[in-house]
Amino acid sequence: MRIAVIGTGYVGLVAGACFAESGNDVICVDRDEKKIGTLNAGQMPIYEPGLEEVVRRNRQESRLVFTTDLPEAVRTSEVVFIAVGTPQGEDGSADLTHVLGVAREIARAMNGYKVIVDKSTVPVGTSQKVRDVVSAETTHPFSVVSNPEFLKQGAAIEDFMKPDRVVIGAEDKRAAAIMLELYSPFTRTGAPIMTMDCASAELAKYAANAMLATRISFMNEVANVCELVGADVDHVRKAIGSDRRIGTSFLFPGVGYGGSCFPKDVKAMMRFASEKDYEFKILDAVETVNQCQKTRLFAKMRAHFGDMRGKTVGVWGLAFKPRTDDMREAPSIPLITALLDAGVTVRAYDPEATKVAKEIFGDRVTFTANNYDVLKGADCLAIVTEWNEFRRPDFPRMKALMREPIVFDGRNLFTPEQMKQHGFAYHSIGRS
Ligand code: NAD
Repeated sequence: MRIAVIGTGYVGLVAGACFAESGNDVICVDRDEKKIGTLNAGQMPIYEPGLEEVVRRNRQESRLVFTTDLPEAVRTSEVVFIAVGTPQGEDGSADLTHVLGVAREIARAMNGYKVIVDKSTVPVGTSQKVRDVVSAETTHPFSVVSNPEFLKQGAAIEDFMKPDRVVIGAEDKRAAAIMLELYSPFTRTGAPIMTMDCASAELAKYAANAMLATRISFMNEVANVCELVGADVDHVRKAIGSDRRIGTSFLFPGVGYGGSCFPKDVKAMMRFASEKDYEFKILDAVETVNQCQKTRLFAKMRAHFGDMRGKTVGVWGLAFKPRTDDMREAPSIPLITALLDAGVTVRAYDPEATKVAKEIFGDRVTFTANNYDVLKGADCLAIVTEWNEFRRPDFPRMKALMREPIVFDGRNLFTPEQMKQHGFAYHSIGRS
């Protein structure tokens, strides 16, 4: 099939590369000339494990090309994906400017039947808005499909190639049949392709992210209570996770969720419910708990040190989660900001996000080449992102570098017993 993907970010680039990998001819479009230049020079604009190899292979085979020329991409394709950002608007709603703008550009370039697929996360009713925008601009026949994306950054290629399910919202059989054919190579292991109406498909994406965010905030509150009553959240987590109705995933407490999706999608879902006069009370609490959780590590440091002026804090992890360079809404940002405001010298390390972090903090933070350099002269270490490489450190080496052996672990990478053995004062989440 000939496919165009408009928007070459975390979702569009992965989707385009994976559709090419299954034999389709894919044109990826972005209005960001620098990004397209980088891709055409054979480099990756983002860090995503395995992505570079898939892109390289399919470019070599000429199944994957990158361009800023949207009209040409639309003219030569049968299926056109919209994968641009839907950032949070001022009132919390999803900003559809990019989605509807791209829909208009697609319409103006059409030269025959097209399936226009919305892959961006968009509120219920957006597929109808896209339909209205397109039909106002063209007399060519078209279908609009809602195909929300469930990939996780850090495991995006695997998630896309082997999805748990594919959700397709389609109002006509012709478009549904094309989408089934397109996705059949990805579901040979038996994962379902679920076809439904567009409203349900659009809502399913928000409901999934809102449910996951709810689990995180719920476990963070359980952890906070654990600290107050002298329980250990690890024991509690395992005890409840073994109940098959609950399951073991997404039960780890931490420093709050971040990233480009959960925060904005939780707010957008509350917003479009409230537009129908429905107050989504749970999500309001989920969001409030998350904001509080992001301040907890700093509060623990304040409780330990009192005035922090003149202290040096080492930070391990800047990205909002491991295996990505994405720092959108990362918990490291409010923590480092609070430390800097308190007169603290911050030394930080992240395996992939340093370049992005430099754009945020400039020279107010010292970025080091590895996780041990962070510790030179540090009064304590704060662990914010659970990169695998932080899990088995050389504790004696750490201790020798630090001014004081104190660790504030926002991801519970170590056990309190282990840290006691190594002679560290250890503060973690939900464990006394
Ligand atoms: P992103 O910001 O990484 O990428 C969006 C891209 O679209 C950018 O490269 C931007 O330059 C481009 N763009 C914007 N307007 C354009 C236009 N008019 N023409 C051409 N290109 C344009 O965003 P993302 O993280 O890939 O997310 C895209 C959508 O997918 C969002 O709705 C998001 O909520 C959803 N989503 C994201 C993830 C994720 O993990 N990042 C997962 C599932 C769904």
